Amino acid sequence: MDAAVLDVLVPILYIVAFALFIYGLMGLTGPKTAVRGNKIAAVGMLIAVVATLLRVHHNWILIVVGLVVGAALGVPSARQVKMTAMPQMVALFNGVGGGAVALIAWSEFRTSGGFLDTATYVVVASLFAAIVGSVSFWGSLIAFGKLQEILPGRPMGLGRAQQAVNVLLLVAAVVCAVVAGLGGASELWIVLVLLLAAVLGVMVVLPIGGADMPVVISLLNALTGLSAAAAGLALDNTAMIVAGMIVGASGSILTNQMAVAMNRTIPAIVAGGFGGTGVAASDDGVERTVKSTSASDAAIQMAYASQVIVVPGYGMAVAQAQHAVKDMAKLLEAKGVEVKYAIHPVAGRMPGHMNVLLAEADVAYDALKEMDEINDEFARTDVTLVIGANDVTNPAARNDPSSPIHGMPILNVDESRTVIVLKRSMNSGFAGIDNPLFYAERTSMLFGDAKKSVMEVTEELKAL
Ligand code: NDP
Repeated sequence: MDAAVLDVLVPILYIVAFALFIYGLMGLTGPKTAVRGNKIAAVGMLIAVVATLLRVHHNWILIVVGLVVGAALGVPSARQVKMTAMPQMVALFNGVGGGAVALIAWSEFRTSGGFLDTATYVVVASLFAAIVGSVSFWGSLIAFGKLQEILPGRPMGLGRAQQAVNVLLLVAAVVCAVVAGLGGASELWIVLVLLLAAVLGVMVVLPIGGADMPVVISLLNALTGLSAAAAGLALDNTAMIVAGMIVGASGSILTNQMAVAMNRTIPAIVAGGFGGTGVAASDDGVERTVKSTSASDAAIQMAYASQVIVVPGYGMAVAQAQHAVKDMAKLLEAKGVEVKYAIHPVAGRMPGHMNVLLAEADVAYDALKEMDEINDEFARTDVTLVIGANDVTNPAARNDPSSPIHGMPILNVDESRTVIVLKRSMNSGFAGIDNPLFYAERTSMLFGDAKKSVMEVTEELKAL
């Protein structure tokens, strides 16, 4: 196509793409519009890719091979991924974005002959992209490993020396970046930048404890966005700058919201300053007893309650029990019981996980109560039914200063008049720590797969 035509057409296509990104993002604010929003943003991305390729005059074979390999890996894995494995997938896809940005920075170094005769802003943007992209790629791989349980979820680090080591790595990476940016330096320096940033990414994420992973994932997401925007600046590509800034800004807002919800500060997270003790609160050698209950007893308790609060967690997602829960709630409501759902901001394995599942089962949106809205109600609730939730109900977060999750706000389930917990065993949750709620006087355990247990309770309710 004529270069003059492209000079007009490409920016117009980019503007259309940005409008679609933003319109799509607006759709993601609610479960009802989220799927449509995602599709709209995907169309925007397709337009941006096509507009970028319009200017390409060489290396077509490489580009086509890249597109085919990417689609062959991405499409089936995105289609087949289980809802419960979504966070790992997000971590991995996010990491790949950071890795691509780091490679772009390296390639800029090479094509400019080590930044010879290169504008200062391009050099600074490229080196920023190299460091942040590499941190994001390697950090995301570690986050993936933890979420996929290839690596232990507990904090792993160098203890007190961790912060000093992290600062040293960052300083060393910046020094190498300055040398690489001065012009004409050996390629070794940019490789050193990428390697030091890689070790930093690993070192930052390894010491972070299970319960704090949500904040880290959204932080890495924000970093990838910022590094992509920097790479866009270096390449003079408006689409990359805008898309990167959208990801960077939304990721930063989400990180802040998650940190506030978990009563953590972002600098403390990055410094490995919490969840970092590695002490399992359960390992005190004291034997405790738990009471187990049956589906019929659970049904009787709930049928005669005036209010039941359902606390869904990751186990409900694993069991895919949401439809069964809705059916059980309908029966309870027919018996005059008020049923509410208490949603913790980090229940499950991704932000909004429980809202999405319950919306899928057509649970009325106004029955879903956020933590702050419902926490005072537990004390006057007859029965709280905990379905596959664990960490988000752990009173040690409130009462035990030695607990790795101490300070994280939890649902005040233990204040309820009676608590019934549905899970398969006494195993811990994602944070890998014991939960005193399960041994409490008012708590009884209904052991088994959550969906099966809920369906059994429903059958018993029908018979009452
Ligand atoms: P948890 O991971 O604390 O606990 C889930 C519980 O579900 C387990 O103890 C498990 O016990 C039980 N379970 C698993 N499968 C089943 C099943 N089929 N039927 C019944 N029970 C089952 O979940 P929570 O939702 O309470 O807490 C979420 C945790 O994940 C927090 O630590 C949070 O920080 C972390 N996290 C959250 C993210 C987010 O964005 N929401 C992202 C990454 C991590 P058992 O094996 O005995 O059945």
